[in-house]
Amino acid sequence: MEQHTFRPESLMMSYGYKPELSEGAVKCPIFQTSTFVFKNAEAGKRFFEVAYGLSAANPGEEQGLIYSRLNNPDLEILENRLTLWDGAEACAVFSSGMSAISTVLLEFLQPGQFVLFSAPVYGGTDHFIKHVLPKWGIEHASFDANSSEEEIHQIIKNKGVDKLGLVYVESPANPTNALIDMEMCARIARSYHSDEKPVYLAVDNTYMGPLWSHPLKHGADIVMYSATKYIGGHSDVIAGAVLGNSRIMQRIKTMRTFMGNMMSPNTGWLLMRSLETLKPRMELQAQNAMKVVEYLNEHPKVEKVYYLGLIPEGTAEYQIYRNQYLSPGAMVSFDIVGGEKEAFTFLNNLKLIKLAVSLGSTESLAEHPATMTHADVSPEDKQKLGISEKLIRLSVGVEYYEDLIFDIGRALEQV
Ligand SMILES: *Cc1c(COP(=O)(O)O)cnc(C)c1O
Repeated sequence: MEQHTFRPESLMMSYGYKPELSEGAVKCPIFQTSTFVFKNAEAGKRFFEVAYGLSAANPGEEQGLIYSRLNNPDLEILENRLTLWDGAEACAVFSSGMSAISTVLLEFLQPGQFVLFSAPVYGGTDHFIKHVLPKWGIEHASFDANSSEEEIHQIIKNKGVDKLGLVYVESPANPTNALIDMEMCARIARSYHSDEKPVYLAVDNTYMGPLWSHPLKHGADIVMYSATKYIGGHSDVIAGAVLGNSRIMQRIKTMRTFMGNMMSPNTGWLLMRSLETLKPRMELQAQNAMKVVEYLNEHPKVEKVYYLGLIPEGTAEYQIYRNQYLSPGAMVSFDIVGGEKEAFTFLNNLKLIKLAVSLGSTESLAEHPATMTHADVSPEDKQKLGISEKLIRLSVGVEYYEDLIFDIGRALEQV
């Protein structure tokens, strides 16, 4: 027989699930249980030894089920399926994207250290870095899409090279779609890394993953998701995930056990259902986004469109785009001619597209970053990062593209 490797989309309906363990059910049931019965006391003892790292698992030995804060079949099967998209060794799923991100930050940073992060990052992450971590004696420094490698090294030197604890990147930046070079960030992290004091690169891949970007292949050590977005894809769950190698994920899973911020079995089950259609959903969303951009780009009431597919060839940014991303994605931002008044008139006149934050779902959503998702960003940073009053962010869904364009056109007419 010739060797054949199945693609993730072919495995999303079955991978990691054994029907014979569940009365032959073709689909994984919801294991709505807090605890699991041990066959005998010896088995219980062994499960705890392995779970608490008191003894290494033997080759081929599977971690036994103990208690749903530590492990649960819906979570484990979902985690195994998620590893396929990113080519990761292991995964841990969380109750939200923020619990995934905050657990990574708390596990890999210590008092006296600082986190170096790319600006802008998601508002919740920004708040956690600037207002929560300082309570634990953890500082921060940032760079942006325009910073050169030398400038970033200088930022680190200014804070103290020995104090660098973690490099944290979000790309494309929300809401401007500015790109950060992950391979450059990996080089930077490596140059301060040692076995005694690891400096890992963690990437929030919510915007482009897990289909269109695979940060582990570009030198990242840790990938994080708000699974609320594309992975969930139906605006009906809040969830998060982290992926990386087994050693790193063992640390993250241990932290999750004691923070108690794992996903619920019901959410795990819903996400397995979502993963079955991840690829067709995201591909249709990207195709629709392209059509919407073609329309917006020609419209006299639109000043500028921010979309990866419009990055001019031959630029440094285009190089990063081609290297890191397999698609221009389905997130589109644009400056409307005018300011807040014109932006609000447009948003208030959309009918099919809903006025709401969040992204990556089957329905198209529109919002005003300056006064909504990024209301917390200082006026200087807003100016520097291009989050102006005329900026509108669209998350393009799976509707018929001509209906989306009709809705946008009608709303623009009212402006
Ligand atoms: C939504 C989002 C988060 C936070 O995720 P929750 O699931 O809402 O906790 C983090 N990062 C990015 C890029 C996001 O879009």
